[in-house]
Amino acid sequence: MTTPTSPTSSPAERTPVVIVGAGPAGLTVGNILRAASVDCVVLETESREFIERRPRAGFLEEWAVRALERRGLADRIVAGAPTHTEFEFRFGGERRQFPYTELTGHHHYVYPQPLLVTDLVREYADVRGGDIRFGVRDVEPHDLDGERPSVSYTAPETGERRLVHCEFVAGCDGARGVTRTALPAEHATVARHDHGVGWLALLAEAPPSSDCVILGVHPRGFAGHMARSPEVTRYYLEVSAGDDPANWPDERVWSELHARLAVPGARPLTEGPLVEKRVLDMHNYVTEPMTYGRLYLAGDAAHLVAPIAAKGMNLALHDALLLADALIAYVRKGDDSGLRGYSDACLRRVWQYQEFSQWLAELLHGPSSGDAFRAGSAMARLRRILDSPAAASTSAELFIGKDTDH
Ligand SMILES: Cc1cc2nc3c(=O)[nH]c(=O)nc-3n(C[C@H](O)[C@H](O)[C@H](O)COP(=O)(O)OP(=O)(O)OC[C@H]3O[C@@H](n4cnc5c(N)ncnc54)[C@H](O)[C@@H]3O)c2cc1C
Repeated sequence: MTTPTSPTSSPAERTPVVIVGAGPAGLTVGNILRAASVDCVVLETESREFIERRPRAGFLEEWAVRALERRGLADRIVAGAPTHTEFEFRFGGERRQFPYTELTGHHHYVYPQPLLVTDLVREYADVRGGDIRFGVRDVEPHDLDGERPSVSYTAPETGERRLVHCEFVAGCDGARGVTRTALPAEHATVARHDHGVGWLALLAEAPPSSDCVILGVHPRGFAGHMARSPEVTRYYLEVSAGDDPANWPDERVWSELHARLAVPGARPLTEGPLVEKRVLDMHNYVTEPMTYGRLYLAGDAAHLVAPIAAKGMNLALHDALLLADALIAYVRKGDDSGLRGYSDACLRRVWQYQEFSQWLAELLHGPSSGDAFRAGSAMARLRRILDSPAAASTSAELFIGKDTDH
């Protein structure tokens, strides 16, 4: 990328690692570096209050929690987060459980992303004394292909342009960040997949109506129910791509959720105020390789997986764990093997999760596609994982992320 063009008004600083973005990926990298006494600076465009409240993911795979626990980053999760061991398909008036813990020995932790981010910021900034700068603007990486990269940004309090020299840039700035755009087109490929549908993502101030995730497979479209806390539930409704949330007044939302999720004998859905209502464009992408010169992408900055199988946050953590360890090995011992192997090691799991997410998407979206062949195939896929122990085991392993680094 470019050498800084705009003059910086304060003296340049120096640190081994600049981390762009304070989501789960960036904060995990920062925390692990701090624990190893490797200095870093985290740059974040939003405020601390904003990132600690931004609602998104809710499910952590057990391997991810164990890995955070080993690094002192999961005390509150392990102490208090509820666990999930199965989910339920509802279709054609039937309810069928999918007991993935019984099949794999592993479970999910239900831990909303804002809680994880709050824990990670507190640990990084307040406990480990990490340097984090909120509200920065116009972040620009420079000279990534040389030995002396740097990152410039505008400081919110003074409007000054500042420059931080570093050895490495960790691009953890999510799907809309700047670091991914620093990869030259001739260096990286971006593989994309569009599901051709939208999901209306809803947060209801209402207690969960089931002890587990419910996946409703319905000719009018998929509907999902996911606990977030005893007071809050996430719901999804499959809608047309590009649909406008304004087309979905609360009465229409609840009527459609009841229609798609109701089955005889099931507890009725508990309604409540809808505090989030937005349409997600259901698409996936993978950037390969995830590195360029001294830039290492992690999490959604490198790959996006539509929230069909609850994979994005888990992948962000997987990348972050590998990247932090690789950076420490290099800075401490000059061992660059982790950095050289980083992209390949991440992408093995990324592609397994992408493929599983796409497989599940077709099961969920096929019946409402208007295509009789896709609908029939989707129902065959559903029956197979419910009725064949071998098929169920394979899907359960992918769902919980067990042994998926092939
Ligand atoms: C509705 C919804 C539900 C989801 N459910 C699940 C789920 O159940 N399970 C799951 O695993 N995943 C889920 N995900 C996906 C998950 O939220 C993401 O994969 C995860 O947030 C990725 O973490 P990250 O750190 O890579 O990126 P982010 O969390 O996006 O963090 C990136 C950070 O960088 C900051 N930033 C952006 N641009 C810049 C810049 N130029 N300079 C500096 N900072 C910048 C952003 O403000 C942000 O704080 C869901 C996503 C959505 C939208």
